[in-house]
Amino acid sequence: MINIGKNIEAYLPPEILALVKAAGGIAASKGQRAYLVGGVVRDLFLKRRNLDLDLVVEGDALALARQLAKGRDGKLVTHPRFGTATFKQGAFSLDLVTARSETYAEPGALPTVKPGSIQDDLFRRDFSINAMAASIDPARFGDLIDPYGGKSDLDRHLIRVLHQRSFKDDPTRVWRALRYEQRLDFRLEFDTTTQLRRDSAMMVRVSGDRLRHELERILEEDYPEKVFYRAERLGVLRHLHLALEGNGWLGERFDMAREASGSAKPDINLYLALLAWRLDDEALKSFIERLKFGREAARALRDIPRLKQALHALAAAELMPSGVYHILEHHRPETIQAAVLVTDSALVRQRLELYLSSLRFVVLSLSGNDLKKMGVAQGKKMGTMLRALKEARLNGEVTTREDERKLVRRWLNRGKR
Ligand code: ATP
Repeated sequence: MINIGKNIEAYLPPEILALVKAAGGIAASKGQRAYLVGGVVRDLFLKRRNLDLDLVVEGDALALARQLAKGRDGKLVTHPRFGTATFKQGAFSLDLVTARSETYAEPGALPTVKPGSIQDDLFRRDFSINAMAASIDPARFGDLIDPYGGKSDLDRHLIRVLHQRSFKDDPTRVWRALRYEQRLDFRLEFDTTTQLRRDSAMMVRVSGDRLRHELERILEEDYPEKVFYRAERLGVLRHLHLALEGNGWLGERFDMAREASGSAKPDINLYLALLAWRLDDEALKSFIERLKFGREAARALRDIPRLKQALHALAAAELMPSGVYHILEHHRPETIQAAVLVTDSALVRQRLELYLSSLRFVVLSLSGNDLKKMGVAQGKKMGTMLRALKEARLNGEVTTREDERKLVRRWLNRGKR
């Protein structure tokens, strides 16, 4: 038996280690066993930071979570229906689940779940490198449970499924496989590659919500385009959507998106708009429907064809800032940002950037009420005047409240003459 107790002690920040040890102690006091599993064990060996810990309990995870959270700072969220709980302290989160076995009635469906042993629980997992557990029982702290050769696959940089039916049971694992492969710079093991190609068509049975979740997780990676390239080369990208392309064009745009966002990660809807940019109207529509995008994302995506049209008008030689504003005012900022990265025209880019960085924030200092006090009658005339003031502000003809007042006075005097 390999023991990684010392590695765990060196890897986890002291306060998290104390919490994990406390959880192991509470479980033991109830005659139950608890384990760290999955990503944290993998990342511990890889020396990659991971503050999302998963804990499996052979017993009652909910009761353990409640006892653990008692008297500690942090937030406990329980899901009694699933027998799971999450305990959060700042950026750190600990998921507690009861060990279980899963069986799949049909491909792509959600599994039937029963309580089980840690071995059962590891068998339901996706890849050998994610199917390791380390005991946190005080008497055997750090004992490694590795029934599928996860450590050896980690050493050989391999992504390997646990059994032949894995991708059929859960086709979302196709995306998970490519995500880990590209993130860790590993390789799909030979049989795993064959099975992935063979079974990826089962993706049609996966619900839009689950598929979208996988796409979002890809887009949260440091270099999402690598996953799309790889999927394209393996011939599986079409199972996300028939018309998507994972090519150099996309990579260049994603790179530019990262550059433009500085130290932060690009907005996921910006990545999404770039991914979908070259889809035609039909393909875009079916992409939005298939992946059941939420309101914000769907709006950004639906805006692509409209904005593409608007870009022609933005290329006009003579255009005041107010003209730029009116062309873009009803478009989505993420989609406009995508257009900045896509357009070949320096003039169009400059105007898009002008809109994003300043025009869209332009507001008047004077309100209708202020105008009323200055003697402007309410109604059509006031509306016209407010719009004209906004134009003047957009075009930089007025920049302060006093400027606005002066302009209104001039208009009123002109009206008297
Ligand atoms: P990441 O760094 O991407 O968050 P993670 O390993 O923590 O990696 P999660 O998606 O949080 O990934 O899942 C936690 C664990 O649950 C995984 O390590 C894996 O063992 C298991 N798991 C998650 N999704 C699946 C799945 N679709 N099929 C089988 N096992 C899964």
